[in-house]
Amino acid sequence: ESFDQMQLHENLLRGIYAYGFEKPSAIQQKGIVPFGKGLDVIQQAQSGTGKTATFCAGILQNLDYSLVECQALVLAPTRELAQQIEKVMRALGDYLNVKCHACVGGTSVREDTRILQGGVHVVVGTPGRVYDMLRRRALRADSIKMFVLDEADEMLSRGFKDQIYDIFQLLPPKIQVGVFSATLPPEALEITRKFMNKPVRILV
Ligand code: AMP
Repeated sequence: ESFDQMQLHENLLRGIYAYGFEKPSAIQQKGIVPFGKGLDVIQQAQSGTGKTATFCAGILQNLDYSLVECQALVLAPTRELAQQIEKVMRALGDYLNVKCHACVGGTSVREDTRILQGGVHVVVGTPGRVYDMLRRRALRADSIKMFVLDEADEMLSRGFKDQIYDIFQLLPPKIQVGVFSATLPPEALEITRKFMNKPVRILV
C-alpha cells in the first residue's frame, strides 16, 4: 500500500513526498484513511511509529481551507512535542497553505492572541495554555471539528486530566476525536468512553 492509494488531496500528497516520506508506516497504513473519513480512532502506538504524520495527514485531509478558522486542535504533553507536531503539520501542509500555531506555556500570551486573531486552521498545544486561550476566547472553539490527544497516557500521568476534561466541555459536542497513546490505562479508557463515538481501535 502506498500514500497514492489513500485518496488524499493532491497537494497533501505533494507535501508528504516533499517531506521525504516514500511509503506509509504500518500505523499510517491503518490510520490515515479512517481518521481522514471523520471516524473516531484510538491508536495504540509508541512514538517512533509515525503516529504524528498519521493524525497530521488525517487533519490536513479534512480541513476546509476556504475557512480560516480553527478546525482542529491537537494536545500534547510537553511544549517541545507540541512545537514539533506543529512543524510537521506545517511541512506536510505546505502546498495546502495550512495555517498552524503552537500554543504552549512559557511564551507570550499577547503574541499567541495576536496570531490566533490573524486566523489559523490548526492549533497544537499543551493543555494549560490551550485551556487558557479558550477561556479568554482568544481561541474560538465554534469551528473546531477535530480533536487529537497525542500521548494521552503521558498527559494523564502528568496530571492534565482535569484540564483535558475542561477543554472537552468548551468544544462543540459532535466533534471527531483521535486518541494516540502507547498504553491505555483506566483514565485513558474513561476518556474514550466519555467522549468518543464508536471509536475504531488500531493496534500496531
Ligand atoms: P513519530 O512516531 O511520529 O514520532 O515519527 C518517528 C519518525 O519517523 C520521525 O522522524 C518521522 O519523520 C519518521 N517517519 C514517520 N513516518 C515516516 C514514513 N512514512 N517514512 C519515513 N519516515 C517516517
